[in-house]
Amino acid sequence: MNGQRFFDNIKDVYRRIAHAAMRAGRGPEDVRLVAVTKGVRPEYVVSAIYSGLREFGENRIQEGEKKIGHCAEQVGDARLIWHFIGALQKNKVKKAVQLFDLIHSVDSVELAELIDLHAGAIGKKQNVLLEVKLSEEETKHGVERKAFEGLLRRSAGLSNIKVKGLMTIPPYFEDPEGARPYFRDLRLLRDEADSKGFSLPELSMGMSGDFEVAIAEGATIVRVGTAIFGPREAKA
Ligand SMILES: *Cc1c(COP(=O)(O)O)cnc(C)c1O
Repeated sequence: MNGQRFFDNIKDVYRRIAHAAMRAGRGPEDVRLVAVTKGVRPEYVVSAIYSGLREFGENRIQEGEKKIGHCAEQVGDARLIWHFIGALQKNKVKKAVQLFDLIHSVDSVELAELIDLHAGAIGKKQNVLLEVKLSEEETKHGVERKAFEGLLRRSAGLSNIKVKGLMTIPPYFEDPEGARPYFRDLRLLRDEADSKGFSLPELSMGMSGDFEVAIAEGATIVRVGTAIFGPREAKA
């Protein structure tokens, strides 16, 4: 196994994260890099672990389960942190709770309650983010702004989940500056929740094309796939 395969890409992404953080008057340690491994072969994920990565994001339960198992076998004692970043179907919640440290995509009261139920059943306190839909696009998941406060209040009242912050996926823009207003909106929504007594330290926003802009707007977690692993192989 060539542990060097992604080393240069990872180094470059960390360098860009550090620069963006410092330009924003923040420290590099204020931003966590989640390497998005959807569509990436398990042996490549192991290679990335040997290059120093510890946090990974998957958007499908089945694919994630395989990869988490493979990595545990290969590098058993490395303490890895797995993020679920995709749309979560109800029949996959139990698995998601078993497998993932942070679920980024809670966008309904129903889903929050189901996660709470399954977490309670295995004695886990499940860390989650609330995914917020800030654009008009039909295709995007996420709670609508007008339903956000209700979801936040309900989720905060559930004893087996812990709401750590917010996540959003802006529409695609050629120019990353196009995403800035959405990143800013998420931060302002968080600040507003803060002022109402909710503590939501984590902002999961920014991908390969726009993570520097997201960091400038306060991202604490960036989800980066292509810039580390290259273009994804086409789906079968
Ligand atoms: C695929 C994906 C990413 C990573 O996208 P890249 O452009 O490859 O960095 C980030 N977040 C989510 C939710 C994704 O599905």
